[in-house]
Amino acid sequence: MTMATGGEATGMRGQGISVVALGTAQDGGIPQAGCQCPNCRRARRSWRHAARLPACLGLIDSGAGRAFLVDATPGLPEQLERLGGPGGGLAGLAGVLLTHAHIGHYTGLVHFGREVMGTRDLPVWCTPAMADFLRENAPWSQLVHLGNVDLRAEAVPGKPFSLTEHLALTAFPVPHRNEFADTVGYRIQGPTRHLLYVPDIDRWELWDRGPAAEVSQVDLAILDGTFYSADELRSRGRDPREVPHPPIVETMDRLQAAVESGAQVFFTHLNHTNPVLRRGSRERAAVEGRGFHVIEEGAVFIL
Ligand SMILES: [Zn+2]
Ligand SMILES: [Zn+2]
Ligand SMILES: [Zn+2]
Repeated sequence: MTMATGGEATGMRGQGISVVALGTAQDGGIPQAGCQCPNCRRARRSWRHAARLPACLGLIDSGAGRAFLVDATPGLPEQLERLGGPGGGLAGLAGVLLTHAHIGHYTGLVHFGREVMGTRDLPVWCTPAMADFLRENAPWSQLVHLGNVDLRAEAVPGKPFSLTEHLALTAFPVPHRNEFADTVGYRIQGPTRHLLYVPDIDRWELWDRGPAAEVSQVDLAILDGTFYSADELRSRGRDPREVPHPPIVETMDRLQAAVESGAQVFFTHLNHTNPVLRRGSRERAAVEGRGFHVIEEGAVFIL
């Protein structure tokens, strides 16, 4: 495991609850299929250091011997390997929590089906709308009918639910392009610290909660850092309104006071175009100079 920039890191099998960044890229990962941009070319040349999988957290309760994934991404096979243990992490895998129905966040569920792992009643926590979507649409419906997964529509905003004696989560609604179902973020509560996870959001001003207040109430926040600035998409001929995300520059303005008061903020869900991917870039220096962090693959946080 690599050291979390600005976070306390230990081995995955340390005491208490460990949160591992098993993926830190936007849905397409880095390098992105078919892309020849400088960041993707660099990731192909230096896979070990520059490639990133779609955003995913591993939650590990080492005392209970149980591990969970937050989101089932297209990189799930490798993310299970990174989770470690016999069977590449499967032995301890006690369930999956989903945020929403975009390809980078749930399509890894296919690996639980009879063509691959053929799991039995693997718990999958999600919102009631997400559970309906999975139950009613192939190929996901087959996972439900064959009993590969056991849908638990318990990710109901404001109602905490426990995964183990020392690990609880509370879901909250997040404004996002909800073509198929809805979107939630999670507040993850360990024995001593709380972590806020919002990998995908359209705009902070659409969120009823206000990011500064939320971030001030937790010890760590891992937030949507898809784009550094709005220019990033325009320069590639894409309309930023098609895929809205708050640019990192704006998020830093909103959260600067919270960070100066001690909040730890990490950016994840990084798009392949994002200049903060390059260590030594002006933009990366700006992020770190203001006290924020770009999350690394494999970063570990203890709650
Ligand atoms: Zn996403
Ligand atoms: Zn690219
Ligand atoms: Zn999304």
